[in-house]
Amino acid sequence: MAKRLGMRTYGDAVLRAKTERIAEERSRLAPLFADMAETMRAERGVGLAAPQVGVSKRIAVMNPEPDNDETLIRMVNPRIVAVSDELETLEEGCLSVPGIRGEVARHVWVEVSYEDEKGVERKLRAEGLLARIVQHELDHLDGVLFIDRLSLAKRALIKPKLKGLAGGKER
Ligand SMILES: [Zn+2]
Repeated sequence: MAKRLGMRTYGDAVLRAKTERIAEERSRLAPLFADMAETMRAERGVGLAAPQVGVSKRIAVMNPEPDNDETLIRMVNPRIVAVSDELETLEEGCLSVPGIRGEVARHVWVEVSYEDEKGVERKLRAEGLLARIVQHELDHLDGVLFIDRLSLAKRALIKPKLKGLAGGKER
């Protein structure tokens, strides 16, 4: 049975680490994928990267339609291979940065190369919401959070809130 994993939040070092490429047998990843999908669904998220549940590996799950299992995408070792010149600015949030939202400019479409959960090489051209999710989740795999991409003015504004989030972790 898939279980819900604990969410790592801002201030946790695992969110800032660059993840390791997956070298192990793909079939051994099945339980982690199942738990990540379950966690994403339970948290009502559209994307979840492994560092967010404390696993520093290049794995992410995404689902632009959280209630539809058919649209669930599991990615191993994803990388963006092409992007649109055009950018679009929209509000984003993140399960690991609770209570904060902000406008982030992202490519309108991206092409991503990855392996699926069975180890099959795939290429996806994502547009709209899915393109945004791909960019947000792949950022996580490089230790980048959406708050790093906010305007300087907005970052100044959320600084106290971020301090509060990180401070809550000191023991
Ligand atoms: Zn996030």
